[in-house]
Amino acid sequence: AKHAGGNRYELADPEADARAITRHGLTTALPVALERGEFFIEYQPLVHLGDGSVRGAEALVRWLHPQHGVISPDRFIPLAEHTGLIVPLGRWVLEQSVRQARAWEAGAGADPAAGPLRVNVNLSPCQLTHPGLVSDTVEILERAGLAPGSLCLEVTESALIGADDDLLKPLRRLAEMGVDIALDDFGTGYSNLANLRRLPVSVLKLDRAFTQGMQHFPADPVDLKIIEGIVSLAHSLDLAVTVEGVETGAQADQLRELGCDTAQGWYYARPGPPDRLHELALADAT
Ligand code: C2E
Ligand code: CA
Ligand code: CA
Ligand code: CA
Repeated sequence: AKHAGGNRYELADPEADARAITRHGLTTALPVALERGEFFIEYQPLVHLGDGSVRGAEALVRWLHPQHGVISPDRFIPLAEHTGLIVPLGRWVLEQSVRQARAWEAGAGADPAAGPLRVNVNLSPCQLTHPGLVSDTVEILERAGLAPGSLCLEVTESALIGADDDLLKPLRRLAEMGVDIALDDFGTGYSNLANLRRLPVSVLKLDRAFTQGMQHFPADPVDLKIIEGIVSLAHSLDLAVTVEGVETGAQADQLRELGCDTAQGWYYARPGPPDRLHELALADAT
């Protein structure tokens, strides 16, 4: 209860209190959670729109909290960024994902014509400015024995807005080594299309907002024109286009017609355990 002057008492918003406590509780529990191994990774397939084959997966981290159950990254990644824990946590995700991609490769079985299953890993802006990014990544790839070409790092568009050369240097070095860089959540920020040429990216990931706009069928023709324009610009700059949030077959058909290269979304599969990705890849190779 909050003292509201005189002899009146008002209840503080109990939900806000719960959120505040939880937020604080979660923040203090984060470093311990990493030590105790409470994080795990789910993988969501990336599907080639042309032939429907599984080409790889995006790694998405989750926290299995002993009291609160599975906590979504939307809740704890911002806290980890705020406290700096994102650097060791992000490194852990990268290492696990790279080892997983190597395990998929060793287990083979995916369509040999499509090449080994690749893995996409999200990088937070704090990791971009951390001086160990390039050396850590090289070391992790070497230790696992994974080719740099099997790794794609996803960086949000907003993290690179107004990026100067110092910020781009590590990404450029990774790109030169053969690591793919994807511009994530494309279209949500102030996209400076001309700026794209400057960035060492090889993939554009169209934000879910675009596919959400296509939920009504037939979709708004203006939305379709915008996607078509982005795809043609991306292709003219030699960038591949991945769309996220594909939930229906009609969306997939339309996005294929618009020239998108790769899709990700519940229509194909929800994020899941690594073995399931391998099964999906095997199933479509037969
Ligand atoms: P994101 O990078 O944009 O990842 C895509 C999100 O969309 C994922 O949410 C995924 O589960 C969800 N999604 C996939 N397909 C569909 C669909 O068809 N419909 C709908 N409605 N949603 C779909 P998730 O797993 O909750 O992750 C949320 C965000 O947390 C990610 O957004 C990413 O920004 C961040 N994140 C996750 N893992 C990591 C990580 O290891 N490091 C960092 N820095 N951020 C991460
Ligand atoms: Ca992502
Ligand atoms: Ca995204
Ligand atoms: Ca998104």
